[in-house]
Amino acid sequence: MQTIGLIGGMSWESTTLYYQLINQGIKDRLGGLHSAKIVLVSVDFAEIEALQRAGDWDAAGRMLADAARSIEAAGADFLLICTNTMHKIAPEIAAAIDRPLLHLADATAEAIVEAGHGRVALLGTRFTMEETFYIERLETRGIDVLVPDADDRRTVDQVIYDELCLGVINAASKRAYEAIIARLVDEGAEAVIAGCTEIGLLIQPDDCPVPLLDTTRIHAERAVTRALNDEKETDA
Ligand code: GLU
Repeated sequence: MQTIGLIGGMSWESTTLYYQLINQGIKDRLGGLHSAKIVLVSVDFAEIEALQRAGDWDAAGRMLADAARSIEAAGADFLLICTNTMHKIAPEIAAAIDRPLLHLADATAEAIVEAGHGRVALLGTRFTMEETFYIERLETRGIDVLVPDADDRRTVDQVIYDELCLGVINAASKRAYEAIIARLVDEGAEAVIAGCTEIGLLIQPDDCPVPLLDTTRIHAERAVTRALNDEKETDA
């Protein structure tokens, strides 16, 4: 079994899910007392969020590149960045290490193509929904990506930073997300990407009238498969 490297803490609420899902996946596949080999570096999300808000992606890149080097030095065979948003600086992180990154947008794109969806809605932080670093990775695989309108994007983003990353699960926010999803389905979305690793804390498949693609689960599953199969490497 290969050792999985996790750049986590963004937020720790979702890194906990990664840890559980990856260990559960290894247990399901190998049985008995088997568990995952994991190296985790967990950063202080307050520092990262302040850099995001200031637009200082270079400093954030240096911080996460340091984390990646530590993980590599500790023996990880491949690495995951446990947040969609920080894939904005995935190229800088990948350049800092020799081991490959299992890119979250690529893993998600593969899952969408495998499921045969052509048009999908994307929910995530304002960075993920409004910039090109994530959406382009889907579009180059022929996936048509819908994002909410400006008001709805503000709502989705605020709930992530003001609630979900703090572990707050709010019934009114859940209803707001459901209404936003309904509007996107009306616009033709065949599936919804939970493109923020905390959204699965609020919205589950039963809350969604079309398939919900939870990026945390997709990423964790791909990591398990790769750790056990020695798959072809996917570089960022
Ligand atoms: N975990 C979130 C994501 O998947 C948001 C936190 C962050 O800004 O990294 O995008």
